[in-house]
Amino acid sequence: MKTITLIQGDGIGPEITEAAVKVIDAAGVKIDWDLQTAGEDVIEKEGSPLPECVLESVRKNGAALKSPVTTPIGRGFRSVNVTLRKELDLYANLRPCCNLPSVKTRYENVDIVVVRENTEDLYAGIEEKIDENTAHSIKIITRGASERIAKFAFEYAVKNNRKQVSAVTKANICKLSDGLFLEAARHIAEQYPQIQYREILVDNCCMQLVQNPCQFDVLLLPNLYGDIVSDLTAGLIGGLGVAQGANIGEHCAVFEPVHGSAPDIAGQNKANPTAIILSAVEMLNYIGEEKNGKRIKSALFETFRQGVCTPDLGGTASCCGFTDAIIKNLQE
Ligand code: ATP
Repeated sequence: MKTITLIQGDGIGPEITEAAVKVIDAAGVKIDWDLQTAGEDVIEKEGSPLPECVLESVRKNGAALKSPVTTPIGRGFRSVNVTLRKELDLYANLRPCCNLPSVKTRYENVDIVVVRENTEDLYAGIEEKIDENTAHSIKIITRGASERIAKFAFEYAVKNNRKQVSAVTKANICKLSDGLFLEAARHIAEQYPQIQYREILVDNCCMQLVQNPCQFDVLLLPNLYGDIVSDLTAGLIGGLGVAQGANIGEHCAVFEPVHGSAPDIAGQNKANPTAIILSAVEMLNYIGEEKNGKRIKSALFETFRQGVCTPDLGGTASCCGFTDAIIKNLQE
């Protein structure tokens, strides 16, 4: 039996985590969950929203399923998500966005993979207040991290039969930093002549994504643009409730939905667990349980085809009701 870290989070975290665990269990996958808690609830006891034991658990187990964690604002703590990614060197943030059966969206055949650099850029957290009216925030881009993520994107493209990688920057304005990111992407692109390489400015990319998303295949972005653009691509396929994600490093990986803790709908049994279930499917693939991952995905898709969905997608199913429908389809 595999041991996997389960980071429960807050807001809608517990509801969607329970849904994912129930579905995995119903598929017959035997997992020994190493339950860890992060966020506001553990500060009192541990002195930090991300205790060392959580990091240790992921290092030891090699994989984690995580639901969203809110970082308390104004208490001097760094973002739990950013710290987790940085401490474990989960340098690649992978966010596939593909249309789901029977989920009505503006476009059909959207199949985009966002590859976001996960460790630097404005997320380095280097900010200073110069005076009462001026603040500086430093954007760090290094050749090493840029080449590493570019290589990840091209390798992903080759392994997954993708045709094109587009590097997305604002290199006309951030000439040195985004310029360096582009230089690194170009250098790596030369090593993959079989993959079409394209460059596009992030503002134009957003407009093109809204008007004609099917022209894109793999998007390669620095951290901040990757965060923003992946919410946009989530919107193309039904919203944050269905957008899966993974943070991948050399030695371990943390699978989590793109969305945050959605405090506006927490505790109301109406969160959509699709994003975390799809993230869990990727986790199963990662640990060699591809067959069961495929079964869960089929049962989820069948549930959509039956017209069952949560309110964010225009349906009436509760989080629990939707989960039960998936489990029923798994057993048929
Ligand atoms: P963060 O900054 O932590 O990523 P955010 O500000 O982007 O969070 P979210 O918590 O992701 O915000 O929520 C944005 C909107 O999407 C909210 O209206 C929320 O209710 C909705 N939403 C997010 N996740 C889901 C979900 N799983 N099911 C239904 N609605 C969701």
